[in-house]
Amino acid sequence: MPKRILVTGGAGFLGSHLCERLLAEGCEVLCVDNFFSSSRRNVIHLLDNRRFEILRHDVTSPLHVEVDEIYNLACPASPFHYQSDPVQTTKTSVMGAINMLGLAKRLGVKILQASTSEVYGDPVVHPQTEDYWGNVNPIGLRSCYDEGKRCAETLFFDYIRQYRLPAKVVRIFNTYGPRMQPDDGRVVSNFAIQALTGNDITIHGDGSQTRSFCYVDEIIEAMIRMMATPPAQTGPINIGNPAEITILELAEAVIELTGSASAIRFMPLPSDDPKQRQPDVSRAKAELGWEPRIPLREGLLRTIAYFDDLLRSQ
Ligand code: NAD
Ligand code: UDP
Ligand code: UDP
Repeated sequence: MPKRILVTGGAGFLGSHLCERLLAEGCEVLCVDNFFSSSRRNVIHLLDNRRFEILRHDVTSPLHVEVDEIYNLACPASPFHYQSDPVQTTKTSVMGAINMLGLAKRLGVKILQASTSEVYGDPVVHPQTEDYWGNVNPIGLRSCYDEGKRCAETLFFDYIRQYRLPAKVVRIFNTYGPRMQPDDGRVVSNFAIQALTGNDITIHGDGSQTRSFCYVDEIIEAMIRMMATPPAQTGPINIGNPAEITILELAEAVIELTGSASAIRFMPLPSDDPKQRQPDVSRAKAELGWEPRIPLREGLLRTIAYFDDLLRSQ
């Protein structure tokens, strides 16, 4: 019997890649999503697979299904989407975690939480290690996401301690690749589309803030490896690419790789925008035997090709 795996947020950017990978491994996949920040386009190519099932459901409501493992990804991840309904964002993170943990507890199955580098906020420790507690504004525009994800981590570790639940937490750093939503305002999708359409590249602030970008396939591989670990391996564990660059350097790389004539336009920096972010992935190397290998330029070329096709098909 193939394993039956629940992926919440399965129609999203990361979720759709995870569903695809699990199907390729022979699993049955139940994708649960309310399409808050995604479209069916991401999973339409999976609908013909008889091992794939999709259920429109909001994880803030209880869910009664029978599965062997749970990946909890449901949560809008781009500032544009999570700030469009911040109350719903916190509810999704917190009530969604409670319901999925309750489901995992009733079934006695493994559950993995897609947490985020945002739990470190605007970090004063650099690069970020898992034992750093973070520097987070509890009442700012990003707080619904950051504090929601922090509370979800609290719930995961309390279910582990209180109920001996085989639960796991990965902290994902900025990820990019095909099927990022073209309209959700994240930097790689914005720059790729702006460059391909000849519009100005919009840099927030002076572009000196840094991020570390990891190609999507590598994050999916790390999540699958983490799920396969024994119950004692709970995390939290950082997954991301330690290659750190400034946003200005990213803009220049996208312009070069597309051969675009786009100009750079500097815009106001949003509040609480983290100044630097770089994962320390020593724990992932040691515990999962995992480290990212796809260089940014190669991943960007694949992502640009995806958006080029998308723009031509519209
Ligand atoms: P995404 O917005 O593309 O996907 C999230 C999915 O969750 C969407 O399909 C959305 O419709 C769904 N969703 C939202 N609220 C829901 C609810 N209440 N009930 C059911 N479904 C709901 O984002 P993504 O980039 O694929 O991120 C997936 C997960 O990974 C998120 O939990 C995010 O916090 C985490 N993460 C992503 C990144 C990244 O760089 N992409 C970095 C860190 C963490
Ligand atoms: N829950 C769920 N599906 C299940 C089992 C539980 O959605 O199969 C929800 C349940 O509605 C509750 C949450 O998970 O709101 C937490 O469940 P738990 O058993 O941990 O706590 P309790 O039910 O005692 O509040
Ligand atoms: N950013 C930018 N131009 C854009 C979109 C984003 O300069 O068109 C900046 C944003 O302010 C942040 C960085 O790029 O400093 C990464 O933004 P994203 O929303 O992709 O991720 P996050 O801030 O959540 O890490």
